[in-house]
Formats: sequence, structure tokens, C-alpha cells
Amino acid sequence: MINNSIQSLIQNFLPDFTEIGSLINGEIVLGTGEEIQLYRAHDASLLLSFRDADPSIIATLDQVAHQAQQQWQQQTAAQRGRILFQVAQLIRQQAEYLAQVECLTSNKPINDAKGEVLRVAEMFEYYAGWTDKLHGEVIPVPTSHLNYVRYEPIGTVFQITPWNAPIFTCGWQLAPALAAGNAVILKPSELTPVSSILVAKMIELAGAPKGLVNVIAGYGHTIGQEIIAQADIGKVCFVGSPQTGRHIASAAAARCIPCVLELGGKSANIIFEDANLDQARQGAMAAIFGGAGQSCVSGSRLLVQDSIFETFVAQLATASQKIKVGNPESPSIDIGPINNRKQFEHVCHMLNIAQEEGATIAGNTQPILSDEGFYIQPTVLVGNNEMRCAQEEIFGPVVVAIPFKDEEDAVRIANQSNFGLAGAVWTNDVARAHRVAASVKAGTFWINSYKTIHVSSPFGGYKQSGYGRSSGLDALREYSEVKSVWVETANQPTFSFKYGPSEG
Ligand code: NAD
Repeated sequence: MINNSIQSLIQNFLPDFTEIGSLINGEIVLGTGEEIQLYRAHDASLLLSFRDADPSIIATLDQVAHQAQQQWQQQTAAQRGRILFQVAQLIRQQAEYLAQVECLTSNKPINDAKGEVLRVAEMFEYYAGWTDKLHGEVIPVPTSHLNYVRYEPIGTVFQITPWNAPIFTCGWQLAPALAAGNAVILKPSELTPVSSILVAKMIELAGAPKGLVNVIAGYGHTIGQEIIAQADIGKVCFVGSPQTGRHIASAAAARCIPCVLELGGKSANIIFEDANLDQARQGAMAAIFGGAGQSCVSGSRLLVQDSIFETFVAQLATASQKIKVGNPESPSIDIGPINNRKQFEHVCHMLNIAQEEGATIAGNTQPILSDEGFYIQPTVLVGNNEMRCAQEEIFGPVVVAIPFKDEEDAVRIANQSNFGLAGAVWTNDVARAHRVAASVKAGTFWINSYKTIHVSSPFGGYKQSGYGRSSGLDALREYSEVKSVWVETANQPTFSFKYGPSEG
């Protein structure tokens, strides 16, 4: 079931699209499993439903992905680059349309969706330029050999993505995997499958072989798990929660399949008394309240120097009440609702726990606006770093403000976390800024800024925020196998039973 307005929107582009299913070898294959129902976060009304994918598709998936990958690899690197560039152009041409679909089917505010769609085009442009530059190197080995290194495709990779930025994460993972020459099975969250299906269709329309990107509409614990257990895949790239990440990594390890894990965060945003405090306040709001806090890099722990703590936090609480929360389809809102009921209930639960543990709400405001739509007003908690609200992901528009004494104290608190995804420091002392950036254990760090990421720069986590890197050159390496080739060049080579340079 798809409601009429969404169906006609999708059919503008895919005339045969009448029901949601998995995209396999360019065709929609309907699921046969449990019915999955998706709801509008604005008013909790039913939006669409589809059936979970049937694990019997795995044999077909293996075959079509393998065939498509072979065809993809046979093209020249420049040809692959041109196709990826064409994907970017199609996405740019269809940007308004894709943003509307993302907004309606993924509960993403329309302005955020427009921005994210354009970022996806940028990702394909960036990696289009890399296809013919992913060359190996020659190593000056101390023997008579010519030794060179090749970067080869892995084959078929399995990507699993979450609901919070569906089209963005789809591009973030697909573009480097394809640029490195792989085929992909992509399983977006069961809550947000539609935009990934459309991007995969655009990749095919741009000239990539059918079956190069296959998108699975279904649950993780059923079809996702079966693909890890059975499919002919060479790597799993997972973006999602730490709990699921651990589960996936151990399932993949049982088959010796390597993983990249992009997991959650509890990032520290550190404000020193010498910072430009107006900018720091605006930055702190964007860091946590953008996307209603449903972002892995959110600045969800706000560390403020004790000399300015009270004033800074009071001003932040007042400003946060002015943020316009509302219908994601309206272009005049600042932030939309929480994506789904389960997540809404989690945020409410964490707010209750925080208050039970002794955290207070700055400005004494009312965080929960309505439980018909999943709306939460940006909320500033005052607490300490030991509280669960400071240690566990809330993944909503809730920041916990924590005072610190000096630089050493700030770094100590920032690092007192199981996570290490991101962080920031606000200060006018340039030497301190760099010291703090070097001392905080996080994969991304900002100085007098927050949340800027770009496809050209590596992204990933320390500690329980995961391992491996997405984006930049590092992602191409993640999606490649590395081969060392040894060519004997001596006229009369000597062969040894030992490893290492031959003697004599
Ligand atoms: P989740 O872990 O519940 O689900 C993520 C994906 O895993 C979904 O597609 C789901 O269907 C699938 N899945 C679940 N169980 C599975 C299983 N047993 N086998 C295979 N697949 C399975 O996460 P979520 O609630 O969708 O997303 C929110 C989380 O994602 C947050 O923790 C957030 O921090 C994290 N996230 C991280 C990044 C990053 O780059 N580090 C980016 C965005 C979101």
C-alpha cells in the first residue's frame, strides 16, 4: 500500500512502481514476509506498507550482482567515471523530485532533504573523478624483483544503512563502492527504503549494468541477517547503532567477512570562556538541534567552562525555545519531528531517566509537544558526565550541559565516553584549540565550527563509534582488496627456502 500522492510522485519517474519491494536486477520484487507499516511522523497516520523481503532472493542476488560486477570491471576506469558523473547529473536534474520523495517517505524536513540530495550528487561527482586515479604503486623492494601494488574490487559488498539520513547515507556508501569497481547489495532501514531504490534506478539509467546496485526492502533481523549469513559478499559496511553493529560484526566474523562499522556518538562540544560566545551558542544549537538531534555527530554533550556556565546555558535554553518545530513538509520550519514512534518513545524515556537521575531542564521548558505527531521541543538538560543522558545516545533534540574547570578537565570529560565519533572546541586561543583537537579521541573534530563534513575528507569513529572510514580516499581503500605482485627481473635468479631478500 502506498498513499496516492506518494504513488503518483514515484510514478512520475518509475511508471511501473505500484508497490514497494526490493530492486533486484532493475526490477521490483515484492516481499512475501511480515507486513511492514510506515507512518507519517507528523500525525502518526499510515503512509505505506510492504512485505519483508523473502530470503529465497539471495541466490538471484548473488548471480545478478556477480554478473553485473564482471561487466562493470570490464569497462575502462574512465568509462565507469563517466557513468558515475552521469548519475550525479541525473540526481541534480531530479533534485526537487527526490527531495519531495525523501521528505514524504522518510519524514525528513523538505529543506534538509533538498540539501542532502545535492550532497549526494556531489558524492558521485567526487568519486567519478577517482575511478582512473585509484592506481597502485611500485615499491623499491631490496631484491631483484619489480614489486607493484594493485587495488582490486572486492566483488559484491553488502551495505546496511539507518533511517536518519537515508538518501545521504546511500550516496555516501554507494559512490565509493562503485568507484572502486564493486557491485552492491544495499539494505536501507525498513523505515526508509524508497529514496535508496530511486537512487539505484538512477544509477542504472546513467548506464551502469542492471544488478550492479540491488536494494533490499525489509528488516535487518530477517533478510539483513540472512544476507550476512548466506550471500556471496566480500565485505559488510554497516551504518547504524552500536548494538546492531556488534551483532553484525560477529555474524560477519563467523564467515571471516570484514566489516566497516559507522556507529553512534555522544560527542563533546567544548566551549571555553574566551570563545566568541555568540558564535559558540549558535554553533552549539546547530550541533545538537539540527535534524532534531537525529544525527550521529550531534554535539549532544555541551561542555561549558564553569565561569560562563550559568549565563551561557540560560541563553542557550532561551534561544532553543525559539526554534520552530513542525510539519516536515513545511519549508518554514527549523526542525521536524522524531522520525518514528519507537525513537520518539526512546527520547521521552531518556528524558524521564535524566530527571530521575537529577538532571534539570534549563529554562524549565516542556520538551514533549505532542505524542500524536512525534514532536519534541529542543531541550537543554543540566547534568553531569556520569548520568545516562551523558553516556548513552538519545538521538533527539536534547543536549546535556556539563561544567568544566580548565583545559585538562575539559579533555578528561570529553574522553570519558565509550564513543569517539566527533567533537568540537570553541576558543580564541589557537594553541589550545590544536592541543584539544589532538587530545580528544574522536574521528572528526571541529575548531570554532560544528557538523561540516565533506565527501572528500575521511569520516569514521574511534572506540565504540566504529572502525574503518567512509568518504575520501580512505573509503576507496575500504572498498578495495590490495594485491602485491612480484616480478622476477634477474637473468639468473636464485631461489631460496627462506622469506626475505635472497642471500649471496
Ligand atoms: P539500527 O542499528 O537499529 O539499524 C540500522 C540498520 O541495521 C537498519 O537497516 C536495520 O534494518 C539493520 N539491522 C538491524 N538489525 C540487523 C541485523 N540483525 N542484521 C542485519 N541488519 C540489521 O540503527 P537506526 O536506529 O536505524 O539508526 C540510528 C543509529 O545509527 C544511531 O545509533 C546513529 O548514531 C547511527 N548512525 C551512525 C552514523 C555514522 O556514520 N557513524 C550515521 C548515521 C546514523
